[in-house]
Amino acid sequence: MTRYRDVSWWLESCGDDLSPRPPLDGSVDADVAILGAGLTGLWTAWYLRRRDPSLRVVVVEREIAGFGASGRNGAWCAPDFNISMARLASLHGEDAARRMQQATYDAVDETARACAEAGIDAGFHRGGSIRVARGPQGVPALEHALAVYERFGFGDRYRLLDRAALDDRIRIEGAVRGLVGDDAAVVHPGRLVRGLARAVERAGATIAEQTAVTAYRPRDASGRATLVTTRGEVRAPVIVLAGEAYLTELRPLHRQLVPLWSLIVLTEPLSEAQWADIGWANREVVASTRLSIDYLSRTEDGRILFGGRGAPYRLGSPIRGAYDRHGPTHERLRGFVRSWFPVLRDVRFTHAWGGPLGMARDWHPTVAFDPKSGIATARGYVGHGVAATNLSGRILTDLLTAARSPLTELPVVGHRSPNWEVEPFRYLGVRYTQWALGRLDDRIARSGRPPTGRSLAERLAAH
Ligand SMILES: Cc1cc2nc3c(=O)[nH]c(=O)nc-3n(C[C@H](O)[C@H](O)[C@H](O)COP(=O)(O)OP(=O)(O)OC[C@H]3O[C@@H](n4cnc5c(N)ncnc54)[C@H](O)[C@@H]3O)c2cc1C
Repeated sequence: MTRYRDVSWWLESCGDDLSPRPPLDGSVDADVAILGAGLTGLWTAWYLRRRDPSLRVVVVEREIAGFGASGRNGAWCAPDFNISMARLASLHGEDAARRMQQATYDAVDETARACAEAGIDAGFHRGGSIRVARGPQGVPALEHALAVYERFGFGDRYRLLDRAALDDRIRIEGAVRGLVGDDAAVVHPGRLVRGLARAVERAGATIAEQTAVTAYRPRDASGRATLVTTRGEVRAPVIVLAGEAYLTELRPLHRQLVPLWSLIVLTEPLSEAQWADIGWANREVVASTRLSIDYLSRTEDGRILFGGRGAPYRLGSPIRGAYDRHGPTHERLRGFVRSWFPVLRDVRFTHAWGGPLGMARDWHPTVAFDPKSGIATARGYVGHGVAATNLSGRILTDLLTAARSPLTELPVVGHRSPNWEVEPFRYLGVRYTQWALGRLDDRIARSGRPPTGRSLAERLAAH
């Protein structure tokens, strides 16, 4: 379907024809009803059926599986969590922060293992990660990141490279040092999420597409909670709200997250000569120390994906397809590609897309189940959900089947984020932070002086 092929190059190139599965055909009863066929909903369905093949699991998706962030992302399957270990330690203690970080390494491993078990060809390639300092101003951030890993006992997984060692891996204009980690992988997000949807069906769960959830209700006297859809109701003792940024469209959750757009540009496949100039043979996932976020990956067929934030937050948190493309931001990203890799000054860009991330007021992701209401959720990954959704699927499976495990003791479980402010204060705060971080980045790059961490924008964005 053209409409869905246009969502991202990942959906276009995943090998499926993207025809929607049948919608829900009237009201049904289930044991677990899941809103959203992204990675969170699908991993949850897959692990639940694996745990108990008798469970009736129904996934309800407004568009098609992979329509959301899971089918659009930057392809990093990395051991990252949206909130720093230092912040986790201050909230939940050092040990909890360490266990959370260890769980993110395990989530990358488990994504690879589960894909192999489920027969999903997600193009999983463990090339590692590189965070680069483009100029001396970025070096303190790398040194600080390494010191934090060391403090929590993960220092042996990372190395600081000097310019020469970095150049051996990837040649980036202006890069002076790099922090390398061995754990991250790159995937084909389209093949991952679409393959997972098929695996979920093979495992015996049902996916109803083109079925929008318009409301939900907690458990009633019969012990069943409800997903109310345009095609009937799904009633089950447990409902799982796995709609990430789109959850803001449901009234009770409107202020739990803000939808923030991340945008991506993609080059044509590069020539061998261009790759000889750049290097990057091991397809590490790459980012710089910019406060306003950038992320890069190299596709299997030799293209460069360059992503970043910066598309403006809009008053009232609306989500519209039109926001997936933002000319000025996409143009800036193309400019970054040319400035990072001058050999690509004439490169052709074939695709540009984007999608909404879900961000909680305290930047803290949440995985939760309230047995009283029968409502479960996992959300608030921001730009770090590819591996973390797999972890959420396993945590939710333990929570829903009342299996206590080390996963159910992680600090992400049962976390409650405060609501975002009402408008227009939400708009003013988010837009100010977006604008100020962009300006600060430009100033840092011009001056060559590292950020102090003391500016208002940095304090607002600290997490
Ligand atoms: C441009 C971009 C780049 C990113 N890059 C990375 C990256 O490189 N690495 C990384 O780790 N993370 C990245 N992320 C984040 C990551 O993709 C997400 O955190 C993750 O995919 C979230 O999965 P999810 O299943 O929770 O949500 P989603 O994938 O958004 O799925 C939610 C699903 O719910 C459906 N839905 C929503 N509302 C309703 C409703 N009312 N009724 C029925 N269905 C509904 C949607 O259609 C959607 O299919 C990126 C995100 C974006 C947008």
